[in-house]
Amino acid sequence: MKYIVIIGDGMADFPIDELGGKTPLMVANKPFMNMMAREGFCGKVNTIPEGFSPGSDVAAMSIFGYDPAKYYTGRAPIEAVSMGIELGDKDVAFRCNLVNLDISPEKTIMRDYSGGHITTEEARVLIDALNEKMGNDMFRFFPGVSYRHIMVWKDGEWQMSSTPPHDITGKEINRYLPEGTGAETVLSLMKKSQEILGQNPLNEERKKAGKLPANSIWLWGQGTRSKLPLFTDKFHLKGATVAAVDLVKGVSKLAGFEAPYVEGATGYLDTDYRAKASKAIELLADHDIVYVHVEAPDEASHNGDMKEKIKAIERIDADVVAVILEKSDKDTRLLMVTDHATPISMKTHYAVPVPFIIYEKGKKQAGCETGYDERTGGDKVISGEEMITLFTGNKG
Ligand SMILES: [Zn+2]
Repeated sequence: MKYIVIIGDGMADFPIDELGGKTPLMVANKPFMNMMAREGFCGKVNTIPEGFSPGSDVAAMSIFGYDPAKYYTGRAPIEAVSMGIELGDKDVAFRCNLVNLDISPEKTIMRDYSGGHITTEEARVLIDALNEKMGNDMFRFFPGVSYRHIMVWKDGEWQMSSTPPHDITGKEINRYLPEGTGAETVLSLMKKSQEILGQNPLNEERKKAGKLPANSIWLWGQGTRSKLPLFTDKFHLKGATVAAVDLVKGVSKLAGFEAPYVEGATGYLDTDYRAKASKAIELLADHDIVYVHVEAPDEASHNGDMKEKIKAIERIDADVVAVILEKSDKDTRLLMVTDHATPISMKTHYAVPVPFIIYEKGKKQAGCETGYDERTGGDKVISGEEMITLFTGNKG
C-alpha cells in the first residue's frame, strides 16, 4: 500500500452571506474531492490542541501525526531546520523579521512587518551588516527569504513572551515588547539593530525610491531545538513532502522526510499545481507516503479574497487531486485534509475541528453524501495523531 496526504491550507471557513450562507468549500466545483467523500471514510480532526494558537506550525505537526502538546517548542526552531541551521541543545532560535517601525520619542508604531516587502537580496545586505556589527559567539543572524530571517542565541533564554509582528500592524509596540527571562537582552538587540539599519546606505536608497526602509529587527517565535521521533519509527513508513512553505518543510525534515525543491511551487496563488501532483507521484516510487501541501487557499483567505479562495480549492481538485487519482496505482490510500480554518471574514487562522477523508482506490465505503466541506465527518473529533494512526493503520 502507498499513502498520499493532500493538504489544502486554510480551506475551511464560515458560512458567507454573499454565498447564500454557504462556505467556499461548499460552493467550489470539486467533483474529485466529493467523490472521495462519498466513497471514503469521513471524519473531523482537531489540529490545534487546547491552549495553542492556531498557527500553521502547530497544525502541520498534528497533520504529520505528532501531538504538539508533546513536541512543539516554538515556530523559529522549525523554520531554522528547514533553512538548514544546526541548533545545539541549549541554543534558542528566534524568528527575526526585518520590519519598518515608525519611531518617535512619544510612541513607536509597527508600520510594516515585512520591512516594506524587502527583497531577499536587499535583506541579505542588511543581515550581513547586523552580523558584522552585532554578531559574536552568542548571537548570530541567518538570512532567509524576503523579510523572514533567523537569529540564534547560543545557550540563550526562551521563557519570555513575544508577539508576531503581523498581528500588530499599525499598533504602538510598547504593549507587545518581550517580557520575561532574557527579555532585556532581546530588547537591547532590537534597539541596537535600529542604529545599524537606520544608517545603512541601502535603506537610504529605499527611501529615495519611495519605499519603506527596513529599519529594525523584530524577534519572536523563539524556542529550543524541537526533536520529533522519526516517522519511520513511529508509523513505519518512509516519507517525502512536496511543499513550498518553510514551516511545512521544517516539520517534514524533523520527521525525517525528504522535502525536495519543486520547480514552480511558490507557496502562493500562482503555484504550479500540476507540477506538485506529478512530483508526488514521482516520489511515491521510492517512498511509502508522500505529503502534498498547497498554500494557495490560505493566502487567498488572508487577503480576504473569496473568489480567489474558491478558485484555489477548484484548482486543487482539478490539478492535484484528479491528477493523483489518475496517476497513482490501485493500492493507494489518500488522505484529503485541511490544516485549519482561515475564515475570509477574519483574514486569519481560527481553531476549529476540520474535515478529512480517507479514501482507498477501488474500495467503496459508506462515506458522506454531502461531499467534502465543513459538514463532513459529523461531530466526532479525533486528534492529528489518531488520524494518521487510522490512515496508516500503524500504531502511533
Ligand atoms: Zn495562514
